[in-house]
Amino acid sequence: MKYSINEIAEILEVQVKCSSNIIIKYISIDSRRLLYAPNTLFFAIRGDVNNGHDYITSLYKRGVRAFVIDEYDDLYSEYEEACFFVVPNTINSLHRLMTFYRSCFSYPVLGITGSNGKTIVKEWLAQLLFPLMKIVRSPRSYNSQVGVPLSLALLEDNDQLAIIEAGISKRGEMNSLQKMINPDFGILTNIGIAHDQNFSSREEKLKEKLKLFKDSKKIVVNSDDIETFNIACNVLGKERIYSWGKSKDADLVIYDLVSKDRHTTIKLKSLENTFNIEIPFIDKASIQNCLNCIAFLLLLNTDIEYIKKHIKMLRAVEMRLEIKEGINNCILVNDYYNSDIASIEYAIDLMKRQSNTKKKTIIISDFIESTIKLETLYHKLANILEVKGIDRIIGIGQSISKYINLFKGEKKSYLSTNEFLLDFQKLSFKDEVILLRGARKFHFENLSNVLEKRAHRTVLEINLNAIEENLNFYRSLLKNNTKITVMVKAFSYGSGLVDIAKILEYNRVDFLAVAIADEGISLRNSGITTPIIVMNPEEYSFSKMIDKGLEPNIYSIEQLKIFSKALDSAGVRNYPIHIKLDTGMHRLGFIEEEIPSLVKCLKDNDRIKIRSIFSHLAGADDENLKDYTLEQLKIFKETSDILMQEFDYNILRHILNSAGIEAYNEYQYDMVRLGLGLYGISPLKTELSNVSTLKTTISQIKHVSKDDVVGYSCKGILSRESKIAVIPIGYADGFNRKLGNGVGSVLIKNKLAKTVGNICMDMCMIDVTDIQVEVGDEVIIFGEEIPVSILAEEIGTIPYEILTSVSERVKRVYISE
Ligand SMILES: *Cc1c(COP(=O)(O)O)cnc(C)c1O
Repeated sequence: MKYSINEIAEILEVQVKCSSNIIIKYISIDSRRLLYAPNTLFFAIRGDVNNGHDYITSLYKRGVRAFVIDEYDDLYSEYEEACFFVVPNTINSLHRLMTFYRSCFSYPVLGITGSNGKTIVKEWLAQLLFPLMKIVRSPRSYNSQVGVPLSLALLEDNDQLAIIEAGISKRGEMNSLQKMINPDFGILTNIGIAHDQNFSSREEKLKEKLKLFKDSKKIVVNSDDIETFNIACNVLGKERIYSWGKSKDADLVIYDLVSKDRHTTIKLKSLENTFNIEIPFIDKASIQNCLNCIAFLLLLNTDIEYIKKHIKMLRAVEMRLEIKEGINNCILVNDYYNSDIASIEYAIDLMKRQSNTKKKTIIISDFIESTIKLETLYHKLANILEVKGIDRIIGIGQSISKYINLFKGEKKSYLSTNEFLLDFQKLSFKDEVILLRGARKFHFENLSNVLEKRAHRTVLEINLNAIEENLNFYRSLLKNNTKITVMVKAFSYGSGLVDIAKILEYNRVDFLAVAIADEGISLRNSGITTPIIVMNPEEYSFSKMIDKGLEPNIYSIEQLKIFSKALDSAGVRNYPIHIKLDTGMHRLGFIEEEIPSLVKCLKDNDRIKIRSIFSHLAGADDENLKDYTLEQLKIFKETSDILMQEFDYNILRHILNSAGIEAYNEYQYDMVRLGLGLYGISPLKTELSNVSTLKTTISQIKHVSKDDVVGYSCKGILSRESKIAVIPIGYADGFNRKLGNGVGSVLIKNKLAKTVGNICMDMCMIDVTDIQVEVGDEVIIFGEEIPVSILAEEIGTIPYEILTSVSERVKRVYISE
């Protein structure tokens, strides 16, 4: 993309007053993601959670000079070098610009929509077609109202095919996507249940999706889903559909389909040719995705022999990024989604979020599926790495070695992963964030093994996307301006203090709350700047807290006086504190009778400023305690009203925890405090995204005969000849001892296996007699399939305890998709 300011003004049909001669090469909608500020046009978008207009000042400071906004603020007049395009709706303008940009290209565009499989079909088509043509495609799953424009911005003159995903979640969204993408060809992957709730019927949802193909020449549709197929024929006209399925009338007929070991052989007929194709998958979804790809390749008149050969080589698409602790205080970011250059920016942004202070290193292999001229490709890559501030580049592979001199900064290259490993001792890795991005054939897992901190095979895997989804779910229950505090006490309910705080800060929560000052200090030391409340501040830490800007929960006059003194010594004024009221929990907090003396203490004290007044509900998750809760809410209102009257400045009020947000939504006041729900467990059993998975692997398998005993105190008596597996997790890791002797089960190969005998400190035994297992197989202790809440019920405790007892020696691994 390359537009002058005047050209942009013309395309958006707005006036612009602007003295600079900026050339727009990039667009951005997220202040946290910039490639090169001086050439960026920022669209300030008002979302449910964020308002892009709030970031203009900081973007200007960082060098952005062109903004599309919907309201001009007089403040902007100080930004003399900036150009502002004032439009009625910034998303519409973004769409308008990208519609225009797309229209400048005449090579074919393939649009993919459907409920599942969009990204995989797109990635597979790229794998299949790259030897034949130059392809540009949506990065990752960029398929939304803002994802599609960002994808289209990647189109360039010398591409030969663009593959763009389109995803919708509600009515009316497809029109603008259709206009922008205007696909020549289409694939409808399938229609499932996702987002059903936003449509009056499945048919309505399908029709909305089909709008994408309004002007397409040919659309690939599976005819086995008869209802979908019939509607598609009605809406699009049968002659425009390229169908595949078991029906003899399909354009591509499936005669036979046999899965064996790891392959499926499909007998197909297209035109008058009958042929067998072998695909390297056996699950239903992958077979469907493959057939969509085959159908599209045939539509492009691809040679059948070529298809057969390349389909065999398809590889599963890994979308995830993994964050792990590395050797010598390094952080490792493993990017498994490594096939295109556009998505590298995403991985680097994630890496920078992990630490902005550590040195940034990237270890990267050749791109094996690129159709761009190598020199251009590595030029592009070098440019991205430079503007993103990567300090050290280690290239692995023949082609990257050839172009290594294009890269700025510290650099080194190796012809193979083995060559790197031989040199490993000499390359010191210390205090760095290291991004690993290797094409599969380079076997970067070997490299990851040497860089990873050696630890226990038992890990707690934490899904950062799930955390974001749950945060957004609770946000959706709140009014627009209700603030949110997230509880990260107790190591973020076991999921890791700093890493969780980082993702929350990135998602702009208003406050973080910790239990004790030390937790807050760790957060500050790792660069967290979000306001932090300390729930249980202890006297000895007051001066340190003031030093680090940690805000105390104040619950007694005595404590208030001591804190005031600490402020005196520090010479600080207007320090924010949070006043806790006891409305029925009878733990910490002021009761109504104490309010007059509290007021007296605060009135003539200019050291302190009340930032918030809050209380805590004792039984918001229990329907039987409703009366008690309502009484607490009443006392809170009365007591806080009295207190608020005494002060003429703005004070926030909050009382709801996770259960409260769900059950007593109308009492959200100015803020809520989210805890358990964020971590994937709803106190009221709402379905949330699973965040934590505790897993390990089998260390040993034994055959033990009937009537033998297993484990300490000979508790596990066997009633049959059994196969027993030993797993390296015990009560010291947080596998509760009460789950022993068959009370608890773990999941192996999707089957439940009961514990046998007592759980030991560092390991335990499970009965795998009926399961085909091998040493090294994965074992799930809790996660999606074994919910923490069920485990808690089995042993008469609460999910909070299960989560927070996973000991710190269990390595936390963070996953992002
Ligand atoms: C822990 C805690 C919360 C969060 O409670 P959840 O039930 O986990 O949502 C809220 N407020 C206070 C004061 C807490 O200590």
